[in-house]
Formats: sequence, structure tokens, C-alpha cells
Amino acid sequence: MIDQKVALITGGSRGIGRAIALEVARAGYAVMINFNENLGAAESTRNEIEELEATVDICQADVSASSHRDLLVDYTLEKFGRIDLLVNSAGIGPSIRKDILETDIDSFNKVLSTNLRAPYFLTQRVANEMIASIKDKTIDGGAIINIASLRSYTAAKNYGEYCISKAGLSMVTKLFAVRLAEFGINVYEVRPGIIETDMTSSDEVRDHYNAKLAKGMAPINRWGKPEEVAAAVGAIARGSFPFSTGSVFDVDGGWHLREL
Ligand code: NAP
Repeated sequence: MIDQKVALITGGSRGIGRAIALEVARAGYAVMINFNENLGAAESTRNEIEELEATVDICQADVSASSHRDLLVDYTLEKFGRIDLLVNSAGIGPSIRKDILETDIDSFNKVLSTNLRAPYFLTQRVANEMIASIKDKTIDGGAIINIASLRSYTAAKNYGEYCISKAGLSMVTKLFAVRLAEFGINVYEVRPGIIETDMTSSDEVRDHYNAKLAKGMAPINRWGKPEEVAAAVGAIARGSFPFSTGSVFDVDGGWHLREL
């Protein structure tokens, strides 16, 4: 078994997950990067982490599939012997944004199975592994971090399945926070605002948010960077919040604030 903490990052190959993988490597973790389709991106992130002289591996798994989730956890344990930190970052939007009066069931199922069912059952499996490792004193505690969104509490009429998935994910944070505290496993949620990644790179999405920013959308009125989300995850990963669980960290330029 490896003699350092291990982090499993779903969707760790691109965007926010990539920045998180680099940040937790800097925090001293060995990193397992999960990806689904884009091997080149996963290899590139792995290479960047190797340049930091950190321990890293990649694992293809579609987290929406139960058998893949098991393979991902089995492979990580086989390779490193422990998991101290799980970051549920893999996520998708609907491939076509449709008004909620027209959402089709396939899109609903795909988004919910990736953004909600996957982190729920992956957290369940990893939590059970962490509990066993804590009992046999292989690890002395654990942390789980869900990457939710301002969409956890903000409606978008043409993005319903995504909003529902993130609202559900916020309840996953609460449920596992209350269930796992007795074992020394803390559960946290990071809620990014609008962040420059592939997910937000289409002209339609860029134009939509740029128009909102032009009108003064948020107190810190600009796009966020993946590294700014990763910095919050890094602070949690470094153990800065031992007396907090179920806590939500907004990384959104203050967008969640109301002003009257
Ligand atoms: P992104 O750039 O599109 O990257 C998505 C990542 O998730 C990729 O590594 C992708 O791997 C992986 N992934 C997608 N489906 C997967 C699956 N079924 N199994 C395993 N991995 C899968 O997205 P992002 O903007 O970084 O978003 C990361 C997280 O932050 C998501 O949960 C998203 O909802 C959330 N978020 C994003 C924003 C934003 O403005 N960007 C705002 C709030 C919240 P492959 O490339 O291999 O498929």
C-alpha cells in the first residue's frame, strides 16, 4: 500500500476536474484521474502531474454505469491500496438545451445518471471502503467533495435536467455528511459559478453569460477559472476544515448574494 494519501477525482482529465487533480497533487496526494471518452486529455493531465513529481494514474470509466464505478474503485485500491479523498467532479449538461416543456426523457435520464446517480452510488461504495480502512487503521479519516453548481438552487428554463441533478447532488452532500461523521469522514460541497471550461465553450453559452455580465451579473463580475474552484478543493483536501461537514463553498464571484 502506498505511504501517502490517495485522491480519486472523477472527470479529472479536463476543466475543473483537471485543475483539481493538479491541486491535490500539489497538496501531497497520489492521484487517480478518472475520465470517460477523451484519453488524450487524461494523458495530458497525467503528464502535467508527473512533471510535479507526484504519483498519478488514469482510469477510464463511465461513472454513470454501475459496473464501471466498481472497476474504477477496484483499480484504485489495487493500484494504491487506499482512498482518502473522493472528488465527484464528472458532469455533463444536456446535449441540446430544451425548454422544460419539451425536455425529452433520454436527455433527462442521461444527465441524472451522470450527475446524480453516479456520485450517489460512487460515494456509497467509496465510503464503505473508507470505513473499512479506518477500522483497520489503514487511514485515519476521509473526505468527500461534490462539485455541485449555482444550479443547485437556481432555475434555468432550458436546463431543467441539469438543475434537478445539481439540486439532488446538494442533498447527497447533506445525507452523507450526517451519515459518515461518526466514522471521521467529512463531506463537502463546492458550488462553482460560471467557469471557463469546455462545458461553457459553445457560442450560445458564451454569448448568454457575456450578455449577463455586461449588465453586471455578480459582485465579482467576470468568468471564473477552474483553478479558482480547485483552490477551494485544495484547502479542504489539506484538512483546513476538520470541524465542518455538509458545508457549502460558493466559488461564484458572490453571485449567490442578494442585493436590494
Ligand atoms: P468539462 O470541462 O466538460 O469536463 C467534464 C469532465 O467530466 C471531463 O473530464 C469528462 O471526461 C468527464 N466526464 C463526463 N462524463 C463522464 C462520465 N460519464 N464518466 C466519467 N467522466 C465523465 O466540465 P467542467 O466545466 O469542468 O465541469 C466539471 C464539473 O463542474 C461538472 O460536474 C459540472 O457540472 C460542474 N460545474 C461546471 C460549471 C462551469 O461553468 N463550467 C459551473 C458549475 C458547475 P471525458 O472528456 O473523458 O468524457
